Amino acid sequence: MNYKINEQGFYGDFGGAFIPEMLYHNVNELKENYLQIIESDDFQEEFKDLLKEYVGRPTPLYFAKRLSEKYNTNVFLKREDLNHTGAHKINNTIGQILLAKRMNKKRIIAETGAGQHGVATATVCALMNLKCIIYMGEIDIKRQAPNVARMKMLGAEVRPATSGSKTLKDATNEAIRDWIANPEDTYYLIGSVVGPHPYPDMVARFQSIISEEMKSQLMAKTGRDYPDKIIACVGGGSNAAGAFYHYIDNEKVELIAVEADGLGIETDKTAATTQVGTEGIIHGSKTLLMQNSEGQITEPHSISAGLDYPGVGPLHAHLFKSGRGTFIGATDKEALTAAYQLTKLEGIIPALESSHALAALDKIECNSTENIVINLSGRGDKDMETYIRMMQ
Ligand SMILES: *Cc1c(COP(=O)(O)O)cnc(C)c1O
Repeated sequence: MNYKINEQGFYGDFGGAFIPEMLYHNVNELKENYLQIIESDDFQEEFKDLLKEYVGRPTPLYFAKRLSEKYNTNVFLKREDLNHTGAHKINNTIGQILLAKRMNKKRIIAETGAGQHGVATATVCALMNLKCIIYMGEIDIKRQAPNVARMKMLGAEVRPATSGSKTLKDATNEAIRDWIANPEDTYYLIGSVVGPHPYPDMVARFQSIISEEMKSQLMAKTGRDYPDKIIACVGGGSNAAGAFYHYIDNEKVELIAVEADGLGIETDKTAATTQVGTEGIIHGSKTLLMQNSEGQITEPHSISAGLDYPGVGPLHAHLFKSGRGTFIGATDKEALTAAYQLTKLEGIIPALESSHALAALDKIECNSTENIVINLSGRGDKDMETYIRMMQ
């Protein structure tokens, strides 16, 4: 089985570029240029330098002693929470902003749901002195006020999407409309392994730094450059793609993707796309998504804003369908329990998204000889209000 993208931009049955004709020029320009640019020495040098000096990489691979004792196994945490801006998203925005510059783009657009990708995009635009416009659903603007304030302080213009449900998918529609209207000078910066080809492959490459570092860190700590299991949460799937990337063809490594069950997959308040979704097209890509019988995208639910997405990237749809990935879910409640537990045992407050990955420890079988890496995608500062409210 092949898990890499093919020439047409497909992972097995999933992916491709299902886009309106008006976008063909933009997407094609990107497709024709991205590999040559990002594989060049000059690009790699600047990318690696910024990851080191600005983002703070490499992130530690921390052996969580007390957590390991509790589960009678060996748990390592890949500390993406220690990155500048508090999550893995900055790896991707740094990569894409360098690409945009080399393609002579002057204006950056993006959409954001929870605001995390908006903040990461506004951050690199400030760094590179580029104009930044962030589309965000009107409802999300109200729900995510601190991130909106951050984006504005960083110099971005936040434009509300006022159509439909006034959430992420409506912001995506607005961003695409903007790109169609401004094909020459505008770069569309997508935040996960979603969207038309080449975005899923490009974002996976930028996030693959996570598993690249893991290899040498595991070698030093365990004498072997691969773990038995890697666990990561999946919203669109970028932190998981990065954590899995260099191990995808190594069948000795079990790849465990954790989706947000929300209130439970038997309810309609869930974001567990592989469990309740069906094949269709979302955001220009053929993949699994949550839709009603008429093909309209349904509103997902998760306590964690970053997992509250009605699709998964095409790589994950392929890992799911082919059986290469093990897909499990954690409910809102299970994620909260895992967050409080990590905080008490290790003194680390995780992001609510990452807490879903941590909750997997209660659901999988493990033993004392195994090495398990959990990708700690982000830190919990942004979730303090929820943590305190739910603690009562
Ligand atoms: C955005 C986000 C996620 C989900 O996005 P992926 O593309 O699935 O990684 C997970 N964790 C954190 C901390 C996030 O900010």
